[in-house]
Amino acid sequence: MINIPKGTKDVLPAQSYKWQFIEETARSVAKAFNFREVRTPVFEHTELFQRGVGETTDVVNKEMYTFEDKGGRSVTLKPEGTAGVARAFIENGLASSPMPVKTYYITPAFRYERPQAGRLREFHQFGFEAFGSASAETDAEIIFAASSFLDKLGVKGVKLEINSIGCPICRNEYNKALKNYFAPHLETMCPTCRTRYEKNPLRMLDCKEEGCKKITAGAPQILDYLCEDCKSHFEKVKSLLTGLGLEYTVNSRIVRGLDYYTRTVFEFLSGEIGSQSAVCAGGRYDNLLSQLGGNPLPAIGFAAGIERLLLLMENTGVAFPEEQKPLIYLAGMDESSRALCFKIAAELRKKGVCAEIDLMARSVKAQLKYADKIGAKHVAVIGESEMQSGEVSLKKMSDGSVRTVKIDDLYKYFI
Ligand code: ATP
Ligand code: MG
Repeated sequence: MINIPKGTKDVLPAQSYKWQFIEETARSVAKAFNFREVRTPVFEHTELFQRGVGETTDVVNKEMYTFEDKGGRSVTLKPEGTAGVARAFIENGLASSPMPVKTYYITPAFRYERPQAGRLREFHQFGFEAFGSASAETDAEIIFAASSFLDKLGVKGVKLEINSIGCPICRNEYNKALKNYFAPHLETMCPTCRTRYEKNPLRMLDCKEEGCKKITAGAPQILDYLCEDCKSHFEKVKSLLTGLGLEYTVNSRIVRGLDYYTRTVFEFLSGEIGSQSAVCAGGRYDNLLSQLGGNPLPAIGFAAGIERLLLLMENTGVAFPEEQKPLIYLAGMDESSRALCFKIAAELRKKGVCAEIDLMARSVKAQLKYADKIGAKHVAVIGESEMQSGEVSLKKMSDGSVRTVKIDDLYKYFI
């Protein structure tokens, strides 16, 4: 017996309808906000993520599934969705389309992490990316889209936290202030923090080590270092969110796990999924396209983790739409009525009605038992008299009521 790799999961028929509900909801929100789908390869050149996501991030440092292919190239299974979409945007010349270009994706992502509830090695993300607009309205639209998605799923008790991490100009000042602050503590901090101190001090605020967390608690706040442009951008985003009726708190500690973010960053957090509290997160990344060799263009996006949403929905008892069930089970009593069931089912299926028949050569009694087990909504038993009259007794399983329906008109009953 060969088992599933650690940190991965099968989605079985009894679960897949929940996935489909989340995916269909994602697509319907994308449609309402006029975002169109982009599909990119599951693997990319490793360099894309090194340059795009950033060398000082946990994702690139420790979590990537990187391997050499048979041609000796280093390739990596995508650890997130944005870098691939940004590459596709540049490579396919989408920069020459009318701006903004609004895209979305639903994709598996791979990170070599320690598996826990809500933290997997293969997981799935739904995300939006809007390219070409630097306006605060775009930030508000993206955050509102993420919020609408969560609302449409029926998710409750998710809190929105936002922050601005500025542009390279104010970040430069802030990094200096952070370095001054951390310098006397450096010896007691973890090796990762010490490396980040040299390369990207902002990322020290993201450290999960208890000792480091105590020290970072007293660190200077980015919001005190924003330049005038970044400050007024952030003010505008906040007032637009308020105008949309979205509740949020400003959390100056949010720096996000990926290096490409600038200005607005945000997270939707839940207290119901243990320590993996971010269900959805995103931000502006105005420098990513130029970092990847494209023309400089502002952009902003978010990604939601589908497994975490599922966990949250299950933990909080959110109602999913009903699982797929046959609308009718046709039970045949003998050879020729079974043949008729087969034909009727074929006709109904052509019209899109979910119809089921016996494929196991069962007795009528066993067929009815099976119909009940699979939750068929209606059952019709067909024998000699039904064949002669051209009518069947259609039994509604929820209340046991029976009505006589012409076989030729059966489908009308379901459409
Ligand atoms: P965390 O701090 O929980 O590690 P992150 O900052 O690494 O999250 P992002 O890179 O922003 O996460 O990814 C966006 C979303 O994808 C997260 O909010 C989360 O819902 C989901 N996600 C990230 N990593 C995993 C994982 N290993 N397993 C399942 N879902 C994940
Ligand atoms: Mg992570």
